[in-house]
Amino acid sequence: MSDPTIFERIIDGEIPAEIIRETDDVIAFLDANPLAPGHTLVVPKEAHERLRDVPPALSGEVFGVVRDLAPAIEDAVEADATTVGINDGRAAGQEIEHLHVHIVPRFDGDGGGSLHSVMGAAGGVDDPDLGGIADDIAAALE
Ligand code: AMP
Repeated sequence: MSDPTIFERIIDGEIPAEIIRETDDVIAFLDANPLAPGHTLVVPKEAHERLRDVPPALSGEVFGVVRDLAPAIEDAVEADATTVGINDGRAAGQEIEHLHVHIVPRFDGDGGGSLHSVMGAAGGVDDPDLGGIADDIAAALE
């Protein structure tokens, strides 16, 4: 067994967090190093590293909490919009190996850019084979 992540220690009450929503299966708390006021993490209590590892019913619970919280947080901090995202895997920037959804309030002119700006420096894809990729994804779903 690997060591518990910091999120499991928050779930177990071992270390403090500003918990803003808790259900039987999901917990949400403020990010300790917020990108914006109200930056929140929504976390399944059961430890799963990647989105692909989360049982479908549990992923539904997680996104249900995201759906409830995003507008409430936006209203509470008087934000203009919200960015919702997952760093799903190390290459995507995941640091804590326990799946979590970031809810980041956004403000007019905050300079943060869109989700596209995250990958802007990577330069996109020349001559993308959209049809072939769509076929490969359909095959992977089978
Ligand atoms: P990620 O790069 O998606 O794995 O993001 C991990 C997030 O966890 C970062 O935004 C951190 O600021 C946040 N974080 C790390 N430790 C804590 C903590 N003790 N309480 C709340 N948030 C934390």
